[in-house]
Amino acid sequence: MQHDGSLKVDAAQATSLAGAVALVGFPTDSNSSYRRGPAKAPAAIRSAMWSEAGNPYAESGIRLRLSENVVDAGDAALREDETDRSTIEAFVSEQLEAGRRVLSLGGDHSITYPIVRAFAHSYPKLNIVHFDAHPDLYSTFGGNRFSHACPFARILESAGVGSLLQIGIRTMTPAQRETADRYGVRVFGPDEIEAARRALPGGDVYVTLDLDGIDPAYAPGVSHREPGGLTVRDVLRLVAAIPGSVVGADVVELNPDCDVDGLTAGVAAKCAREFAARMLSDGTNTPAARTR
Ligand code: MN
Ligand code: MN
Repeated sequence: MQHDGSLKVDAAQATSLAGAVALVGFPTDSNSSYRRGPAKAPAAIRSAMWSEAGNPYAESGIRLRLSENVVDAGDAALREDETDRSTIEAFVSEQLEAGRRVLSLGGDHSITYPIVRAFAHSYPKLNIVHFDAHPDLYSTFGGNRFSHACPFARILESAGVGSLLQIGIRTMTPAQRETADRYGVRVFGPDEIEAARRALPGGDVYVTLDLDGIDPAYAPGVSHREPGGLTVRDVLRLVAAIPGSVVGADVVELNPDCDVDGLTAGVAAKCAREFAARMLSDGTNTPAARTR
């Protein structure tokens, strides 16, 4: 089945789907520092997620069903200007207020700042697990404070989160190290998987996956290829090991223009499916599961 991203549910369905995972798309790349392309990613990931070449079952055995346990809220109407941050925050807040966990498809990594702002209202001690080749902790980059190289600096300054754990980092710079140290960010390189696993947080957890954290051998379709990265299995194993409750996630930085035969879109879809299943499982099984 080809999914066109336009599927919506009516009000009665929306109420009955309060425990579902909301799939939302943010087709934007104007805050990318090098090349455009990630605005095309939500459509590519949705296509791979629901492709008959794939499998609707997550590894845990949970089957993802559109309009049953997954609600596709479509793409936000973004304009590639300063208004987009508030649009993204409101789009996510609407889903959270409907009692859903939210899986966002980027877009470049700049979207994670307004997404986390929305989550921080509902989850005041949110712990973030961030997979990336880059720390994205620049105070400003290329004259843009909202560059995809800056979202975690903005989050630490103002979003009011509990903690930030970064995994796969292999491009740390002195200025970003200073920011990491100032805010107590825990940073683990690709050689420190076991230490990262032991540092995974409890509580309410948000997972953000920049696909360039994964080695370009597995995920070549990104704007900034950085060899020597994580395997897909590293990411899945670490997310499965999170002791806390995964309340939200994003998959960002797929650049379909750089992809090789849809390989990276497939990786993005695989990770999105596993993250969605983890959220469904946590929402059902955790006593702390919230209804709001
Ligand atoms: Mn990156
Ligand atoms: Mn990033």
